[in-house]
Amino acid sequence: MNDCIFCKIVAGDIPSMKVYEDEYVYAFKDINPEAPCHILVVPKEHIASMDDITPENSGVISRIFEVIPIIARMGGAGNGYRVISNCGPDAGQSVFHLHFHVIGGCELPLHVFPEK
Ligand code: 5GP
Ligand code: ZN
Repeated sequence: MNDCIFCKIVAGDIPSMKVYEDEYVYAFKDINPEAPCHILVVPKEHIASMDDITPENSGVISRIFEVIPIIARMGGAGNGYRVISNCGPDAGQSVFHLHFHVIGGCELPLHVFPEK
């Protein structure tokens, strides 16, 4: 857990562009944005992925979804946004600290596989 990049961001050991913070939740701009608004929302507590959500730690998940609309508006995605959490290798999860991508600020393609 000490090597977790998002734990270090939450702790302030690695700088980030903070958008929102409360007792349980931290949100910051993605370093490699794929849309005008691309914010990562994370629990302050280390949870590796969606596979690791349990009855004991799931309280922060409802908190995250309570504040996502506020965060999306703050990030300029008031006209609509998408929430994505990549879980595991096939989904391309690259940071193993649970995070929700809040993406918007422009019209988004409707499908994961646009050629379909
Ligand atoms: P994943 O691929 O795990 O769903 O998403 C990880 C995201 O974290 C990527 O979009 C990547 O750009 C972002 N990211 C990785 N390292 C850093 C960092 O040090 N700072 C910030 N702000 N974002 C990061
Ligand atoms: Zn972590």
